[in-house]
Amino acid sequence: MELNVATELKLAGRVSHASLAEEFPVTELNGRSIVLTEPVRVDLDYSFDGEGFTLKGRLSSAVRMNCTKCNEEFIEPFSVDFSERFLRISEQEAEELECYTYTGETLVLDKMVFDLILLNAPMYGLCRPGCKGLCPVCGANLNNTQCSCSEADESNPFAALLGLKELLNDD
Ligand SMILES: [Zn+2]
Ligand SMILES: [Zn+2]
Repeated sequence: MELNVATELKLAGRVSHASLAEEFPVTELNGRSIVLTEPVRVDLDYSFDGEGFTLKGRLSSAVRMNCTKCNEEFIEPFSVDFSERFLRISEQEAEELECYTYTGETLVLDKMVFDLILLNAPMYGLCRPGCKGLCPVCGANLNNTQCSCSEADESNPFAALLGLKELLNDD
């Protein structure tokens, strides 16, 4: 994902706007793979202040993951607001200053995009509010079906208590 800044370099202080979208289907970072089901969208304002660029905007996409309770696959949209600096310095200096680098008249946004996704894409979640999860006995997905063992489990303690009460009453 790239931003041409030829005009802004000549007109310091001018604020420009861009809406970008690009497919990043699978993002592998630090051994963690994030599956994006929608193109990454970046809407941003950017300007050159004579020294470097300030980019402010919002990134959005959606990730595919598995529910922590029932393990069903589902898609979770997410978005994040950001404000980042791009300076014409070395990679190492940028690392220390926690900003990004550029050369020439193009800002390459890929590293910023990867960082924002890695830090902000949800990793864990439920497929729906109040997911009922799986039956611990038969493994059925309780969102889709009601198995008989869960009913039996719930009624057992009461059945036992009732039985005890009857015994005591008999005496
Ligand atoms: Zn679930
Ligand atoms: Zn069951």
